[in-house]
Amino acid sequence: MQIFDPRSIAVQSAHFIGGRVVPDTALLNVLRPSDGQVHAGLPLADASTVDAAVQNAWQAWRHTDWARRAPRERARVLRRWADLIEAEGERLAQLEAVCSTRPVRDAAAWDVPFTAEGLRFFSEYADKLGGEVAATRHDHLGLVVAEPYGVVGAITPWNFPLVMVSWKVGAALAAGNAVVLKPSEMTPFSVIRLAELAIEAGVPAGIFNIVQGDGRTTGDALTRHPLISKMTFTGSTRTGAAIMASCALQGPKPVTLELGGKSPQLVFDDVPDVDRVAGIVARAITGNAGQVCVAGSRLIVQRGVAEALIDGIAQRFGALKPGATWDGQATLPPIISAQQAARMLDIVERARDAGAQLRCGGGLFDGGPGGAYFQPTLIEGVTADNPAVQEEIFGPVLTVQTFDTEEEGLALAAHEHYGLAAGVHTADIGRAMRAMRGLSAGTVWINRYGRSDDFVIPTGGYHQSGIGKDLGRQAVEANLRFKSVLMDFAATHQ
Ligand code: ADP
Repeated sequence: MQIFDPRSIAVQSAHFIGGRVVPDTALLNVLRPSDGQVHAGLPLADASTVDAAVQNAWQAWRHTDWARRAPRERARVLRRWADLIEAEGERLAQLEAVCSTRPVRDAAAWDVPFTAEGLRFFSEYADKLGGEVAATRHDHLGLVVAEPYGVVGAITPWNFPLVMVSWKVGAALAAGNAVVLKPSEMTPFSVIRLAELAIEAGVPAGIFNIVQGDGRTTGDALTRHPLISKMTFTGSTRTGAAIMASCALQGPKPVTLELGGKSPQLVFDDVPDVDRVAGIVARAITGNAGQVCVAGSRLIVQRGVAEALIDGIAQRFGALKPGATWDGQATLPPIISAQQAARMLDIVERARDAGAQLRCGGGLFDGGPGGAYFQPTLIEGVTADNPAVQEEIFGPVLTVQTFDTEEEGLALAAHEHYGLAAGVHTADIGRAMRAMRGLSAGTVWINRYGRSDDFVIPTGGYHQSGIGKDLGRQAVEANLRFKSVLMDFAATHQ
């Protein structure tokens, strides 16, 4: 059942600068991952276009009242923006789905409402983080005043284009900054509509700008621009490190980085309902075809429940139906690109060369409408140094390791480089707490896997999985800098 016709989704080769769509020559092709066809062209902002956008943002930040107005007024604008997004839910969901891996039904039921609700969450912080009064001697007054940075640069990945804008731009705008965003060159269109709606909601022209292009040219020019006072990024660890290095060399600025992961799902043999856990574990690695930074890609299971759990997971993997993002019956979306699918196949091959066995999957589905659809894959017989355990695959590929004692389980759950998220399944509260303390990860989910709509819980990684947090109070604070003020009124007393 086709929910929409992908060819009917019109998009423009354009940036968004100074409050309007700015058409520019198409130099890149944007493909539809679902059928591998070229959907439209995209401009490639060079350093001078990036400079125009940043200058525009800087002027808007200095000359409009966005940063100076009552914070509650900024909050009202963000809430209006959220309302407009929800009112256009269906159109936005189609725009999101056509060039991404987000099934249109999920985009309508989850991505669009989460985008709107995320903005509402940040709007509520606009007047909550003003700073503090310091403890000083009686005839002094010490203040710590929270102020926005100015222009924040944001670079986002292709897996959740709308939601990422809500997280990055919502937090920055609530704190009173202007933003220049570079979305992924693979999923660049839906966010342009979001920017138009921001203007309609009352965000002053120039406060939210978008430059289109790739990482090497456009992303790098944005990162290096001297008027960008803070960078926020979500994507791979390697690119995050490159962005941090560019910032350091071109004039240090703070960076928030949400990076890669290789997150464990640790299952103990006291779980009361193995089948329920099988459902959670399977969903955690097949949602968005595993193309999620927090995907639970390493199953670590206590021997007593291993066979029953693996059977339940394999059964669920087998029931998934690949199909285009506009196919209402499909339950497994495509891989973002042929290159990414080839990379995944290479890791699976190297995993087998290193002694791993495939319980199911391991390759691409045959036939279909074009595009690359990866079979949900279970890999057994792996050791900690196997490539499938070591490397982030970013697809529906789950490795399985078994253990006997709690200590062994926790030791297997640790990863040499990554520490983004972890899941723990147990009926024993003491064990759950020991695991929570023992796991070196930015997020630990107990008896569930995945975020809820409790946006107040921040998200971000330990180790090479990132620096700083998205969501939560921490995300707004990361968009503020703090001015220290000390007033001495003793002298005025005589
Ligand atoms: P992915 O594997 O998801 O493409 P990346 O981390 O390479 O992961 O890309 C995430 C975002 O970072 C994209 O918007 C991409 O264009 C951008 N990007 C890639 N390389 C750079 C770079 N050197 N500097 C700035 N941005 C970059």
